[in-house]
Amino acid sequence: MTGSFFGQHDHAERAAPPRPPRGWRVGETVPWSVSWTSEQSYDLQISQDFPGLVDLVQAQAPGIGTPRFAALHITRHRLGMVNNLCHVCGRPAPRGDRYIFPVESGGFATMPDETLRYAGNVPPVHLNCARRARRLCPHLSKTFAEPMPIPSEESRLVQRTDVPPGMEALAKTLPRHLKIVFSCYRLYGPRFTRQIAKLREARGVATAML
Ligand SMILES: [Zn+2]
Repeated sequence: MTGSFFGQHDHAERAAPPRPPRGWRVGETVPWSVSWTSEQSYDLQISQDFPGLVDLVQAQAPGIGTPRFAALHITRHRLGMVNNLCHVCGRPAPRGDRYIFPVESGGFATMPDETLRYAGNVPPVHLNCARRARRLCPHLSKTFAEPMPIPSEESRLVQRTDVPPGMEALAKTLPRHLKIVFSCYRLYGPRFTRQIAKLREARGVATAML
C-alpha cells in the first residue's frame, strides 16, 4: 500500500505536502483517515466486523501533533472501509455520493480461480471531497485523477492479517497466536475490474497487485 492525500504510502513519506499557512486542518488540508504523531499507541479488541478475529486498535487524537501522510490511521481506515465513511471528511458517504480513485489507488488481487479482481484499499469519498483532494494532493493533481462512482455491482470486504510495511516492530510485540486484522480492502466484481484494468492500461498505469 502506498498514502498521500489518497492513501498511497510509499511516495508520501518522500513527498509530504508543505505545511499550509493556516496549519493542518482535518477534513480540509489533512484527510480524516491520516494518522498523527500523537496517535502512536495500540490495543487489541475482538473484531465486530471480522468474526473470530481480533482488530488492531489505534489511539485517537486527530489534530494533535503532526499528520503522518505516509500512514493511514488503522482504526479510522477500518471504520471508513466498513461503514463507508469519507476518507477526506469522515462523514458517511451515502449511496449515490460515494467515489473512489481506482486508477491511483488500490490494486489487483488474485482469486482462487486465478482471475484478477480490483481491490480498493482507500475508503470512499464524497464527490466534493474528491475534488478538494484532487486540488490538495500533489499525486492526484499531477496524474489528472478522475473520481469514479462506486459501482452497483456487488463488492465485499476482505481483511488483511499480514503486517503492513512499517509496522514490523509493533507486530513483534503482539501475541503470536492471534489472527490480527491490520487492514482491509474492498473486492469488486468482474465488470468493474475489467473497466479499471482498461482505464489503467489506457493511462499507462501498472496493474499492481495488492
Ligand atoms: Zn467527505
